[in-house]
Order: sequence, then C-alpha cells, then structure tokens
Amino acid sequence: MIWNPKAECMSSEEREEMQLKRLKKVVKKAYENVPYYKELFDSAGITPQDIQTLKDIEKIPFTTKTEMRKTYPFGLFAVPEDEIVEIHSTSGTTGKPTVSGYTEKDLDIWGEIVARALSMAGATKKDRIQNSYGYGLFTGGLGIHHGAKKLGATLIPISAGNTKRQLEIMKDFESTILTCTPSYAAYLAEALEKQGLSGDDISLKAGIFGAEMWTEELRTNIEKSLKISATNIYGLTEIMGPGVAHECQEKNGLHLQEDHFYPEIINPQTGETLEDGEKGELVLTTLTREGMPIIRFRTKDITTLRRGECACGRTTVRMDRITGRSDDMMKIRGVIVFPSQIEKALLSIDGILPQYQIIATRPKTMDELEIKVEVSESLFSDEIKHIENMQKNIAKAVHDTIGLRVNVSIVQPGTIPRSEGKAVRVIDKRDFS
Ligand code: ZN
Repeated sequence: MIWNPKAECMSSEEREEMQLKRLKKVVKKAYENVPYYKELFDSAGITPQDIQTLKDIEKIPFTTKTEMRKTYPFGLFAVPEDEIVEIHSTSGTTGKPTVSGYTEKDLDIWGEIVARALSMAGATKKDRIQNSYGYGLFTGGLGIHHGAKKLGATLIPISAGNTKRQLEIMKDFESTILTCTPSYAAYLAEALEKQGLSGDDISLKAGIFGAEMWTEELRTNIEKSLKISATNIYGLTEIMGPGVAHECQEKNGLHLQEDHFYPEIINPQTGETLEDGEKGELVLTTLTREGMPIIRFRTKDITTLRRGECACGRTTVRMDRITGRSDDMMKIRGVIVFPSQIEKALLSIDGILPQYQIIATRPKTMDELEIKVEVSESLFSDEIKHIENMQKNIAKAVHDTIGLRVNVSIVQPGTIPRSEGKAVRVIDKRDFS
C-alpha cells in the first residue's frame, strides 16, 4: 500500500516546484533565526536571495558534524525553545553528541515519513509492531513509535535488549512486524533456533532493519531464518531520524522522501556535486523542518541516487543501500576497505553465521587484518581438516573481494559478543600516534 500517493507518486516537475518553494523558505528561515547559518552565508558572500533555482543550493557551504558540534547543545534551533517539544541526540561516541530538536509539526512529519516506510514494508493498521529499537535519546525507538501511531498499527514498545523476553513477547503477542538493527535481528533468529524453534513458530511477516550498514547476504540470511520479508530503513538524527528513506517490496533501492529532504551526491574529496547514477557521499537538506533546519549536511554515507519510476508506482528518487561510511573506511596497507565488503564475502559462504569481527593490527610496520568468524555448530564440531579448508575458503573469498591477504580465525558459535543495538564489527588496534 502507498501511504501517501500524492506525495510519493507526483511528477518530477511538480516535485521540483514544491522543493524549490520549500528550499527558499527554509534557507530564509535558517538565515534569519540561526546565527550559525547567518555566518555561513555571510562567509560565502551570499544571502537567501541568491537561491533562485534548486541548483543554486550548491552556492551554500556544507554543514559537517564537526561544525554542528560547535553549536552544542541548542545552537541550531530556529524557533523559541518553548516551541521545541522533543529532543534527541546521537550517542557522542566519537566526540560531543549532536542534538536534534523537534516542534509539534516536526514530530508530525516524522510520523508521516515513518508511516510511509512502514507501509512500504507491508505494514497496515492491522499489524502488531514489535519495536525493538532502543527508546531514549536515540532516534530509532521513538521514530518508529511516532510512525506506528500515525499508521494506526498496534505498537509493542519493548525497546532493545532482553532477548529472552523479546522472543516470549514475539510468540505470545503474535507480533507481525519486527523493527531493530539487522545484527540484532540475526541474533534473535539465532536465539530462536537455540530454543528449538524456527520462523515457522512465530507470526512475523516483515522486518524493518536499519541504523547500521548491512548487506544483501545478511538480508537473505535473516529472511530465511525468520521467514519474513526484510527491508532497509535509513535515517539520521541530525536530519530527523529513521524514515528519511526506505525500501519498497521491489527491494531495489530506498525511496527517499523528497518532499521533506533534498538529496545531493558529492565527491567526498572535492565537494563537487555529482550526477544521478554516480557514487559518492550523500548530502541532505531538510525542506520542511521547523525546529532545526539543516542545510547541506554531509552524511558521510556513500551511495548512489537513481531516478525513474519504480515498479511499485512511487516516483521518489531511490538511493542504493549504503555501502560504506567515510568513518568506517579503513586503510589497510594502502587499500581502502569497508566492513560491508568483508560481510558480503563472508556470507557468500555456506555455514558462516552473520557474526564476525574485523581486527586491524600493526605488529611491526605492516598492517595485518584478522577476521574472526563464527560457523554453524555442525561445521565447528567437524574434523580439523574441514575447518582448515573453511579458513582457506574464507580467506580466498575475502581476498577476491578486497584484494588483501587476511588471517581467518574460526571461532565457536556464540563466542563473538552480541550487541542489542549497533554491532561492533571493527576493532582497530593500530597505533596512529
Ligand atoms: Zn518502489
């Protein structure tokens, strides 16, 4: 079902006209109400009047996470504080957190875009949504919450963690939709199997997974084990939260909600704007947000935008699944490596569980890459010869993908720490000082 056909299926002319109108408005509002944006425009020698076409957005300098941190906590709010009704924040694991403020209308828009996402995943008001994203300052839990309410579905706000209880509720309440990180979905499937149960013993029909990078291989794995249709949700706290883009049942790119967010793809090295179909860093501008308008935010997420009507009938631009973040990018012996490439290689091999860790070290002068991976119980208890063969196969698959020799350790199922939120896939022990 298409939640909002008017917004999701409009012609490109109609959409561009709407975007331009909204862009002019948001730029003026940010310039007049947020000192950070006034300074940014002044430093570039431009005023809101210089934005007369959508292309003119390129005149505006980018906003980065580092710049946003300088305004911590509330420096980017564009309305008086009494109009802000909810605040979220990033975890701040890599520095000061970035804060996001919402007015009542912003929350309504957030609910709207998540309702569109839930509909794309196949949810209707008849569904029971088990929301296993963490509730709190993290946008995952409450973002899905606002959308499920808008959709009119039955929401089960269980939040993250307590796997035993998750499975108990899933069975007893007959949850039909699961929302959490893909790594946690894989873990829930594993825990279900440990109880001697399978996807046939639960009522789930679909899963909405995001907040971390994942691959088609992991999707296949989760879909098989939980017997569901798994779709990919994208969002970020700085811009709004989950729901900025989501996959329809075609599973061929994520529909980006262009009436509320204006996307661009840039060359991350030069900042130059790239054409549709070219791969680069996603830059987003909020078009309707009141509490905290954000202009040209560099997401650091690497993707490609694709235009043209989708078989589902929606006309919104589609972005490819995120294949890397400039943050997660590792340089190993001079070669750029993304964890997603390694996941792809690993899960292409039968018997490998979606639980792995990538450990980078530099014992002397050369980088070493170790991959710890779990295999199924039956494989693990197999003869040592088979394990050695498996190690070789994994090393070869990874070598074929990234072009680097790696050390593979096969570990007992259950030994790699599970995460109830975002999984820790990469441990970089190299000393860069
Ligand atoms: Zn579609």
